[in-house]
Amino acid sequence: MEFQFLGTSAGTPTRARNVTGLALRTGARSWVLVDCGEGTQHRILRTGYSLMSLTAVFITHIHGDHCYGLPGLLASAGLLNRTAPLLVVGPPSVRRFVNAVRETTELALPYAIDFIDVEEAMDIDALPELAVRTTELSHRVPTFAYSFTEKQVERRLDIDKLRRDGIPSGPGWGQLQAGQDIVLPDGKPVCSADYVQQPRKPRKLIVAGDNDTPSLLADAAAGADVLVHEATYTEAILDKVGPAPMHSSAKRVADFAREVQLQTWC
Ligand SMILES: [Zn+2]
Repeated sequence: MEFQFLGTSAGTPTRARNVTGLALRTGARSWVLVDCGEGTQHRILRTGYSLMSLTAVFITHIHGDHCYGLPGLLASAGLLNRTAPLLVVGPPSVRRFVNAVRETTELALPYAIDFIDVEEAMDIDALPELAVRTTELSHRVPTFAYSFTEKQVERRLDIDKLRRDGIPSGPGWGQLQAGQDIVLPDGKPVCSADYVQQPRKPRKLIVAGDNDTPSLLADAAAGADVLVHEATYTEAILDKVGPAPMHSSAKRVADFAREVQLQTWC
């Protein structure tokens, strides 16, 4: 599981950081985008990711710094002659926003956009490689976190043990790795379970939208490896600004991460 930040600045971009966007690789050539603030497609151009191999866009909420880049990205994919359908997951306001821009700017796309309303779907089984679960957060508009969990983990052979036991390398090793028992040329049976190592735990990444109550993610955080959560303010600035913007401070997110014993938070 590999992800890359395309922007982490809240509200407005800076010279060094664009507004929100994150690329998550899902396969050798496939990837998904989580949030698409203005200018995200420019950030994508600086990476190895291509709009032709993008399989889905997940939008956490309708605020512009999380979705104003979506119409431009969709238009560019069309100009590149993309024909594969694109999945867009988000609140229903995202669908209205995209459709309104398409209508007012007469944007015709050579591919279909399939929308999934995140308010209607707690589990989204649309990606072959990753299970996706949603968590509703607390912000000024309906906002969600997406938890991505690997559906399968690779099976690894205990090579040292194979060599120790004199089992010759070749197609038989591949069969053992695939879970098949084999019989050696001398008639000796070899059991796959004896040589496949205990699989590691599937990795889980949570990407949250804006949120003033990190504890809403307590259930989702169980077993998670990484949490990506906004920290718009320091605690001192949050005290001055007050609760109305409904954002978190770095301290509050860090306190939450410590409470639920997350290994990594960003
Ligand atoms: Zn927001």
